[in-house]
Amino acid sequence: MSRIATPNRIRGTQDIFGDNQRRFAQVVEAFERVRKLYCFQRVELPVFEATAVFARSLGETTDVVSKEMYSFEDRGGDSITLRPEFTAGIARAFLTEGWQQYAPLKLVTHGPVFRYERPQKGRYRQFHQIDAEIIGAAEPMADVELLVFADQLIRELGIADGVTLQLNTLGDAETRDAWRAALVAHFEAHRGELSEDSVARLGKNPLRILDSKDPRDRPIADAAPGIDGFLTSDAGAFFESVTRGLDAAGVAWTRNDRLVRGLDYYRHTAFEFTTDRLGAQGAVLAGGRYDGLIESLGGPATAGVGWAAGIERLGMLVAEADDLPPMVVVVPMGNGELNIAAAVLAGLRGAGVAADMAFAGNFKRRLTKADVAGAHFAAIIGEAEAASASVALKNLRSGDQRVVAMADLVEAVK
Ligand code: ATP
Ligand code: MG
Repeated sequence: MSRIATPNRIRGTQDIFGDNQRRFAQVVEAFERVRKLYCFQRVELPVFEATAVFARSLGETTDVVSKEMYSFEDRGGDSITLRPEFTAGIARAFLTEGWQQYAPLKLVTHGPVFRYERPQKGRYRQFHQIDAEIIGAAEPMADVELLVFADQLIRELGIADGVTLQLNTLGDAETRDAWRAALVAHFEAHRGELSEDSVARLGKNPLRILDSKDPRDRPIADAAPGIDGFLTSDAGAFFESVTRGLDAAGVAWTRNDRLVRGLDYYRHTAFEFTTDRLGAQGAVLAGGRYDGLIESLGGPATAGVGWAAGIERLGMLVAEADDLPPMVVVVPMGNGELNIAAAVLAGLRGAGVAADMAFAGNFKRRLTKADVAGAHFAAIIGEAEAASASVALKNLRSGDQRVVAMADLVEAVK
């Protein structure tokens, strides 16, 4: 007899089940709850875009664009890319859908994103992000708003302990140019000790070296000059407004004057919530201000600031979550009572009571199932109950049992 081989799950993808799925759902539910408190509007966007959307806005020299994108030619010959992040697609929609009329616009979304990376714990090729953006607001209060939102989310998930907000400014164009020159001088002096990747970055984007994970680069990156000596007074004032706002809102932060973000379009505020509880995958939520992004997509100069967080990484930090057990398990004593049990079950659910039915095996097995499911009540239906339109309602916590008319069942269990 020949057997058909089952195809494997694609490397770096996940089938999220059981406890992992409950953690995942907990993150998404908290995100939805908190975003409503902050009056962010939800948007749903395509999973794929024209490759140019990402290549132009993220920058050709970024890791994401140069090595991590899932790009392919579709049947019509167009170059398509599975989104590696949300911001570029949101900026594209802002321009193509005429959302400028609503600016400033506070948006959130969540869903799968795709990056061709080396899979490991907390790092996947299809993973999921929650994402929040404010487009069309150049004021530092927008940065504060997003950071307070992120901070409240992390506290509501119960994971604030051991998660720190690292904050930096990348300044304005003048600041960046001066800092860049100082970094180039510093890295040139250590050229021989840098990784090959970083030597390549030196010509194109020396700020990236600060972000390198290569152990050869770390000591040199850590000894590099910070940005403070180069901040223009405007850039300094902007950063001070952000930190004052955070202090006023009670958000704890630490300054990391070497923090840069992987993407080309960042200006002013850059931040990362990090933890040491996830090994090498310590970044849980990250973002910043991207005032140059919309222009790089051919739009008018438009300010923007936002963040994204990995749902899986947040989920790994939250305490184990349980699904709520059913309130009632309906137990038909024999198969003769199956249909009346189905009617009782539909009535319970229709009235908003979480309920399940035990229909496999003999009566004893059905009753055991009710217990195992963690239900509060078993609603037992035998021939006598069926004939009198009632159920034997057993409280599985106390062991008490009484007869209740089917018409009164919802009230009895609520
Ligand atoms: P890292 O430094 O870990 O590669 P990143 O700087 O590439 O992160 P961002 O582009 O800022 O990450 O994405 C925001 C968040 O998405 C990260 O803080 C992290 O929680 C999550 N994330 C990024 N890449 C992955 C991945 N491959 N698998 C799972 N989560 C990820
Ligand atoms: Mg990365």
